[in-house]
Amino acid sequence: MANRKCNILVIEDDPQIRKLMATSLTAEGYGVETAYNGTHGLQSLRQNHVDICLLDLGLPDMDGVSIITKVRSFSNLPIIVVSARSEDSDKIGALDAGADDYLTKPFSVEELMARIRVAQRRIAAQLQSDGNEENAVFHNGDLTIDYVSGCVYLAGKELQLTPIEYRLLCLLARNEGRVLTHTYITDHIWGNSLDSDVASLRVFMASLRKKIEKDTSHPRYIQTHVGIGYRMIKQ
Ligand code: CA
Repeated sequence: MANRKCNILVIEDDPQIRKLMATSLTAEGYGVETAYNGTHGLQSLRQNHVDICLLDLGLPDMDGVSIITKVRSFSNLPIIVVSARSEDSDKIGALDAGADDYLTKPFSVEELMARIRVAQRRIAAQLQSDGNEENAVFHNGDLTIDYVSGCVYLAGKELQLTPIEYRLLCLLARNEGRVLTHTYITDHIWGNSLDSDVASLRVFMASLRKKIEKDTSHPRYIQTHVGIGYRMIKQ
């Protein structure tokens, strides 16, 4: 992506917001496509080379969450939801359907650009790991995961993790930059998502943080999204 313009598709029915996004993105050097409803958005995704999609949830012809589900059946591209719906249940619905991130309107252009840069880093990391046959070692700041030996190191010192802590850390690491919902995590760790598992998840997360974070009240590596889930932050 370094040699090619990053193309962003904006699916938004509000003409003013669509124009604001398109103008700001063009000014930052991005290529921009726009669509004013879900049908045109999906058409554009299939026909054009789109790297990142910005998606409004309230569209005239279909709900944004059903668009996410449709896109995920043929593409893994980063989807950032930009919506006026601010309820946790809306965010969770979109993230569970496969969105990467969520921005609530009204938003600042600076924040939108920062979220896009996170998505770009995720694409770059994905390309790098696809190109690396072994894909055996994960690095992030002082944290290293050796997937082959199953060992985790912090500043070169090996950590003693329980099997659940290790799986939890690997899941977050493999999805670096993405917000993973409680349901997504418990589904992947325990294979189901009972309420009791969400409570267990908090306990395992606390013990994992004691091992990897210097200051557990200001975690560096794993960010909490209250009521939603967790995200591994690139250092
Ligand atoms: Ca709308």
